[in-house]
Amino acid sequence: MTPDEMYQHLEDTIRSYNPGADFAHIRQAYEYAAAHHGQQKRKDGSPYVTHPLNVAQILAEELHLDSESIMAALLHDTIEDTDVTHEDIAKLFSPTVADLVEGVSKLTRVQYTSKEEEQMENLRKMLMAMSKDIRVILIKIADRLHNMRTMEYQTPAKQKQKSYETMEIYAPIAHRLGMQKMKWELEDLSLKYLDGAGYQEIIDSLSAKSAEYEGFMERVEAQIQARLAEAGITDATVYGRMKHPYSIYRKMYSKAKSLDDVFDLIAFRVLVNTVADCYNVLGIIHDLYKPILGRFKDYIGTPKPNMYQSLHTTVMGEGGIPFEVQIRTYEMHEIAEYGVAAHWKYKQAGQGEGDESRYEWVRRLLENQDGADAEDFIHSLKVDMFADEVFVFTPQGDVINLPAGATPIDFAYTIHSQVGNHMVAAKVNGHIAQLTATLHNGDVVEVTTSQSAHGPSRDWLQYAKSSNARSKIRQWFKHEKRDENIVNGRASFEAELKRCGVTLREMTSEDMLPLVLKKTSFNTLDDMYAAIGYGGVTSLKLVGRLREEIRKVTEARQADRNTGEAAAPENPIPIFEPTVPRKSSGEHGVIVEGLSNCLVKFSKCCSPVPGDDIVGFITRGYGVSVHRTDCPNAAPERRKPEEAGRWIRVTWADNISETYHTTLQLVAKDRIGMLTDVSTILSTTKTRVCSLNARSTPDGYGVMDLEVEVAGHEQLKAVVKKLESVPGIMRVTRPAG
Ligand code: MN
Repeated sequence: MTPDEMYQHLEDTIRSYNPGADFAHIRQAYEYAAAHHGQQKRKDGSPYVTHPLNVAQILAEELHLDSESIMAALLHDTIEDTDVTHEDIAKLFSPTVADLVEGVSKLTRVQYTSKEEEQMENLRKMLMAMSKDIRVILIKIADRLHNMRTMEYQTPAKQKQKSYETMEIYAPIAHRLGMQKMKWELEDLSLKYLDGAGYQEIIDSLSAKSAEYEGFMERVEAQIQARLAEAGITDATVYGRMKHPYSIYRKMYSKAKSLDDVFDLIAFRVLVNTVADCYNVLGIIHDLYKPILGRFKDYIGTPKPNMYQSLHTTVMGEGGIPFEVQIRTYEMHEIAEYGVAAHWKYKQAGQGEGDESRYEWVRRLLENQDGADAEDFIHSLKVDMFADEVFVFTPQGDVINLPAGATPIDFAYTIHSQVGNHMVAAKVNGHIAQLTATLHNGDVVEVTTSQSAHGPSRDWLQYAKSSNARSKIRQWFKHEKRDENIVNGRASFEAELKRCGVTLREMTSEDMLPLVLKKTSFNTLDDMYAAIGYGGVTSLKLVGRLREEIRKVTEARQADRNTGEAAAPENPIPIFEPTVPRKSSGEHGVIVEGLSNCLVKFSKCCSPVPGDDIVGFITRGYGVSVHRTDCPNAAPERRKPEEAGRWIRVTWADNISETYHTTLQLVAKDRIGMLTDVSTILSTTKTRVCSLNARSTPDGYGVMDLEVEVAGHEQLKAVVKKLESVPGIMRVTRPAG
């Protein structure tokens, strides 16, 4: 057939079930696809447009789909294989058609490399999740069916690979969606390429047997029809068929039987109008033929999870030939053959209804069903409908299942906690992405790690969607930030004691310390401070346990007072004296509001330079530590309420003569000459380098940690800009936190 003849045939098919279809646009879609595929050819030499025509034909013939699906099927390879865009299709046809085509293209881009069963299940779920509109997956299945039908023109390697995918991914999806007919054909075609000899053996003996059984099948059909007529069931349809090769193959191998031992090669179907008739027919069949014990199944009373309903029984016919009989209503039959797609058959006239009601039908059907398998099925449709999960790929093709809204942070911690802790950069689909970017179904995610990474920052907790990632980040702070935790914990503990009227020094005196540790069950004071610091225990709770000891200390102090001795000083280490005058030049160019002559140091975590927005923290014993306001350690949500008064305003002085040290981290594609290019930039911008530490990561990236000396923010910004322009540099950051 020429493409035009094929198109005519397609129109006739559609007209037979949907006379009101949008033929003007369907024809336009055909002509548009033909024009854009142009001279492209299929492997068998036919014009490329015959493929989308065939896919549309399958959807019309097998699933009776709506106009939009047919248009999308005709256009399904245009975005992927021609210069057509989503916009073009949206404008010419409709945004829905464009979304369907785009959806199919996305599925086409998914690569299957993994072969473990768990991965296959994830892949199936991912495909469902990616197909926001279930019609996308229907078109994709039809696309695969036609490709499988024409697989003979492909290389043996491609035949095997595609057949494997079909067997593991597409046939199970067709099964879940209840589309038995397409599922069988997909399985049989896959088997042909996966085990050619096994397939041929079954085909040969089936054709031998079918000749042998021909008369037999006709006689059984007539017998059943006659008995039904006697019973007054006149509108029944009865037909016999040979079972499909893959179902026989599976029985042979799962039960280790030879073909001759496979019980029933023939199946009859009896279709009637009502459920009551189904049970009547069952009685008639069992009266006509001897039923085989243990082979009766009532899927009408207990439908299968994929909505399948039918009565199954196996009986012994004349000459000892066993056969199966499936009895169901016409409506059940529609659903058995078309599955989810049967919905559109009933809704053909209804236009413009929302997705919600479209899925409601499926959901209602599913909600009444029990069993783990049913739950699984609902779940897999749920990812489609409610999208509470997201499926992404590793560069190796493994599928990682994450909660919806997950970020590269979640991804990294799912791979391994060490990957998360050492992550310095992430790529999504080959492009640099923020570590906090939201991941989408089918994204390929790659993370760059570095042994000298600064570790997670506390605000990652906010962007991590999986509890797994969050708990691993907390773990890291517990272990790695012990020093910081001790400092913070100590401060918090001290503040709490102060509220109770005692000092830290009093409570940790030689006499008191053993008692305190015993009551709080810690081995050392540092352990206790660390526990408070990472949030394992609150100082309020610990101080609560020390009521008795606190009383002892206050009593002892009272006794000392009474004997005239000096009490322990309230504030043993005065670190600054408040003075009034404001100076225009403070220590290191920093003016601490309301205080003068106080010790100023720049925090190591974010090394501020003049021009940065800064904030000060009054430490205990070390003066004021200055942070950038964007440093995670200075983030308002991290400030402890009891230390609120310690965070103070600091500003840069007007005239600054000093230079400042700060750190930069560069992530780059590892290439020859990278280091030279970077040092050239540094020397031309007259940036003094205090230290430079470069290394390569195993996956081919270069990470450079630089400590530089600059006069201020402006200079730093200029240097960063220059560095970013070096070819191959992917990220320049000022580490903080
Ligand atoms: Mn295609």
